[in-house]
Amino acid sequence: MNIRHHFDDATLMAYASGSLPKGMALLVACHLHWCPECRERVRQAEAVGGALLEQIEPQAMPDNALQQLMARLDDDMAAEVSSLVSPALLPEGVPAPLHHYIRGSLDDLPWKRLGYGVHHVDLNLGGKGTTRLLKIAPGVSVPHHTHTGNELTLILRGSYSDEIGRFSAGDVADLDGEVHHQPIVDTDQDCICLIATDSPLKFTGLMGRLVQPFIGM
Ligand SMILES: [Zn+2]
Repeated sequence: MNIRHHFDDATLMAYASGSLPKGMALLVACHLHWCPECRERVRQAEAVGGALLEQIEPQAMPDNALQQLMARLDDDMAAEVSSLVSPALLPEGVPAPLHHYIRGSLDDLPWKRLGYGVHHVDLNLGGKGTTRLLKIAPGVSVPHHTHTGNELTLILRGSYSDEIGRFSAGDVADLDGEVHHQPIVDTDQDCICLIATDSPLKFTGLMGRLVQPFIGM
């Protein structure tokens, strides 16, 4: 796997400190499964975070602190258990943390048609933001958007190109702020991506813009 696009430092710091919404944390864990470079960056971020923790004054914990910690441990343990799956047994294009949720091949998912050449599956993770798989047919362009929230995309299979560059399996697009782009699937294979956002409204906006041009056809 030849990974050329990685996360911003801010995203990896947020991941290391446990402050990302569940779907985004899952997406980061999926990329880490494939990317030794980002694994090392997370290790460094955790070391920095640990050093900072030693310098701050202790504070009263919120009433639900234990509950939150236990919930986080559950997720971490699920990820740990998933990472024990032998890579040889994982379906093609499915990193171990995602395998925990979809339990099978990308081809066997209950894809729902969203518009011309576009299908999706909502992972229904709950919590803040939205986490979906998107499958886009060759030659289809995905009308994109400007947004105020954050959006992470991990390519699982196939590739696309946009103004930023070419993205293929393992690559991430870490977008925030005023980014305009229009990805187009640039091989004869479907492009399947995992997309996580931290703002449901913004993603509804994206879906609206995604579907609208196709419905208009
Ligand atoms: Zn990376």
